[in-house]
Amino acid sequence: MKQKFIFVAGGVMSGVGKGIATASIGRILKEYGYKTTAIKVDPYINFDAGTLRPTEHGEVWVTEDGGEIDQDLGSYERFLGQELSRRNNITTGQVYSAIIERERSGKYGGKTVQFIPHVPQEIISRIKEAGNGYNIILTEIGGTIGDYENIPFLFAAKSLERELGKENVVYVLITYLPVPHHISEMKTKPTQQAIKSLYQLGIFPDFILCRAHQPLDNVRKKKIETYANIETDYVISAPDVDNVYEVPLNFEREKLGKKILGKLHLNPLKKPKWEEWKKLVKSINHPKKEIDIAMIGKYIDIGAFTLKDSYISVNEALRHAGAMLNIGINIHWIDAKEIEENGTEILKNFRGLVVPGGFGLSGVEGKITAIKYARENNIPYLGLCFGMQLAVVEFARNVLGFSNAHTTEVDPKNRNPVIDLMPSQREVLKESRYGATMRLGAYSAILRKNTLVYRLYKESGRISSDMKKTKDIKEKFRLGKVRKGDEFVFERHRHRYEVNPKFISKFEKKGLIFSGMHRSIAGEKLMEFIEIPAHRFFVATQAHPEFKSSLCHPSPLFLGFVRESAK
Ligand code: GLN
Repeated sequence: MKQKFIFVAGGVMSGVGKGIATASIGRILKEYGYKTTAIKVDPYINFDAGTLRPTEHGEVWVTEDGGEIDQDLGSYERFLGQELSRRNNITTGQVYSAIIERERSGKYGGKTVQFIPHVPQEIISRIKEAGNGYNIILTEIGGTIGDYENIPFLFAAKSLERELGKENVVYVLITYLPVPHHISEMKTKPTQQAIKSLYQLGIFPDFILCRAHQPLDNVRKKKIETYANIETDYVISAPDVDNVYEVPLNFEREKLGKKILGKLHLNPLKKPKWEEWKKLVKSINHPKKEIDIAMIGKYIDIGAFTLKDSYISVNEALRHAGAMLNIGINIHWIDAKEIEENGTEILKNFRGLVVPGGFGLSGVEGKITAIKYARENNIPYLGLCFGMQLAVVEFARNVLGFSNAHTTEVDPKNRNPVIDLMPSQREVLKESRYGATMRLGAYSAILRKNTLVYRLYKESGRISSDMKKTKDIKEKFRLGKVRKGDEFVFERHRHRYEVNPKFISKFEKKGLIFSGMHRSIAGEKLMEFIEIPAHRFFVATQAHPEFKSSLCHPSPLFLGFVRESAK
């Protein structure tokens, strides 16, 4: 079949859930049997999100192939239930960098290189490349209509429409309908303005998704029909929801999937199966029981509003595990500095503790104190990346007796550097090469049998041992040195520091076990999982398993953690 393209753009203002809407449309079309993928355009000049501060941009999402990209891609993967590539995030920086590189190497053959047509051409070729092999390609254009920055991307969409014909391109405009406090009436004017701005670029939206606090009534739909010339049938109500996984179900209530297929001249290839999804949504909304989990992070430095956004994948992974087990998870944000000031009293009422990923020295001692509390009081603990490194530091200090042990990230001259840089990372930092130089993306971890980590992965069916399949893995360094008989899993990474191999046997003698490791091509042994068998549930990983968790396929470590915490 001919490839079909859907462009999603936002009017009125940003932050109204364009990412979730795009992800939901993707899931719906997949349910109708079409191979669907989603691309996010970020009109900023940064090459990728890797060097952006969490306060600027929320969480950095890491793809299997090591892209550090926009968190909306996380929503796409979670909703589509499929892996996306770094190519699915296109930034202005990448577009210009490719054009300039091509010009410098003489590939334009002496032509004048111009904004039109070269920039939209580069955008289109990137969209096509990311969409290769798919039937339907969704592209969400970041920012708001009317921004200078997204004009080239909208121009590219229009050019593609001209090239392929209107029956192969659909435009979805997501707007916001405010209800001003003093008049209590839903206003459509900003939406009308947004539609007008799109017209100026030659784009006539096929669908208007109306985000609002409450559902859109027929009076308002009619108004948009009259002023914007869009039939009410294509004006879709998208009210606020408590649980984002309800969004595709809400859209389907308005038959959005079939309407989009209709505009693309397609018929459903199969009947959607929403039963399991609905069951999990119900279990999130009305769980059999609820538990309180503490997430210990850098609260003050990040600020109350963006903190949750910075750990969005961890929240979602906890939620997925809870949904599967019919357990509601109340996440409590505990500022590590508060523990530094007031001790562990605040941790008393939690059923489990999580220390997520992090960087730098702020709040580190508070996190270490919380980990010690979990270890000594037999409270379930899940450590993610920095949360594993600090668990190793804690154990070294309080069990091995290296009272000053640390990670060299915080204390570069430490005499017991249980967490340290490997030689290759040391080189990178010496040369100040910060962009895309961490250990990024998926790496294999060979699991040690008879460990809790092994049992959890086994139960999930995520372990591979098939040596034939390893031939398909394109980037061999991700697989590393896997031998016949090894059982391994892939998880994604984003860090520079590693467990210092010098100390491994000391830890194991005292009861902290390394339950999985990566054997690198260069011959390094990188520790991937730790656990304390004498503890109820003390598990941590150098990876970010939250990046491979979705509603129907929760991450095994989160599942184990939530199950034990609820006991
Ligand atoms: N700061 C640590 C490192 O770079 C951990 C990173 C993380 O938690 N993502 O190794």
